[in-house]
Amino acid sequence: MNLPAVTLVIPIFNEAPVLPELLARLATVFDANAAIRWDALLVDDGSSDRSTTLVRERAALDPRFALLELSRNFGFQAAIAAGLAHARGDAVVTMDADLQDPPELIPALVAKWREGAAVVRATRRSRQETGARRIGMDVFHRFYQSVSDFPVESNSGTFGLLDRAAVDAINRLPERHRFFPGLRSWVGFTTAEILYDREERRAGQPQQSLRRLVRYAFDGVFSFSYLPLRLLTYAGVFISLAGFLLGLFFVAKRLFGVEVAQTGFTTLVTLVLFLGGVQLIGIGVLGEYLARVYDEVKQRPVYILKRRKGVE
Ligand code: UDP
Ligand code: MG
Repeated sequence: MNLPAVTLVIPIFNEAPVLPELLARLATVFDANAAIRWDALLVDDGSSDRSTTLVRERAALDPRFALLELSRNFGFQAAIAAGLAHARGDAVVTMDADLQDPPELIPALVAKWREGAAVVRATRRSRQETGARRIGMDVFHRFYQSVSDFPVESNSGTFGLLDRAAVDAINRLPERHRFFPGLRSWVGFTTAEILYDREERRAGQPQQSLRRLVRYAFDGVFSFSYLPLRLLTYAGVFISLAGFLLGLFFVAKRLFGVEVAQTGFTTLVTLVLFLGGVQLIGIGVLGEYLARVYDEVKQRPVYILKRRKGVE
């Protein structure tokens, strides 16, 4: 059988409430598209509920499902990295487990790939998140688009397909702070996109805390942009210039015999606080880059495997 093989990589972290529906819907999609050799690689990111049991039971009945277990919760980005490193398909589809990315869309991604695209992004026409999460995501995407040193697209997240060549390229990137959408744009290749409506999580709670999302947002910015550093340089140049001109002004005033006033306490306090703030921000930004350099130097692996079922 020389059918093209497609592997789905799906990170799971305490997704027992959605797993039965996810596995059933995936199997339906697989059965309906027999021209592809499908397999689903579920990457357990240290779940403490019945998630792994559910997948293992399924894998025992249906060899198209496989399970990779990480030794603890390493986070979504690490789970994706583990999945990409172990996926064997000619193409790999990455998606969330919570059915916000509808499995029924996968054949459309594959069709784009068959037409020649090496990277297919599923782009959200709409999304269901509300409140702080939603505002945060919108603000981040707009901000990220303007600061990143190379073009990125807003409104696409994990959901998409990668050709074997793109998967290998991403696997070769050694960095530890991984921001998947950024890496996917960074490797290039012929890219296509399809539009979809992001659905509501089918069951359970969002498993990524707002804090984690903020951390990934930081990774996105600091891994793909030098703009924070450049802004500091600009601020430094601007403030020094302003200081210099102010100095000249005082000297001139003195030369022309105008008394330099002894007042200006409020101005002084304001300036001291402002400059102190700018300097602290500067140290913080340097620290962000330095911490990332430190993490790279330590060379710790991005994830550690505990067990595998049906995975080489
Ligand atoms: N996830 C994971 N590790 C984590 C948190 C989440 O592998 O530490 C998985 C989760 O099971 C889901 C996907 O990442 O398949 C997206 O998570 P979630 O739906 O909670 O995030 P959001 O939709 O808010 O981005
Ligand atoms: Mg979700």
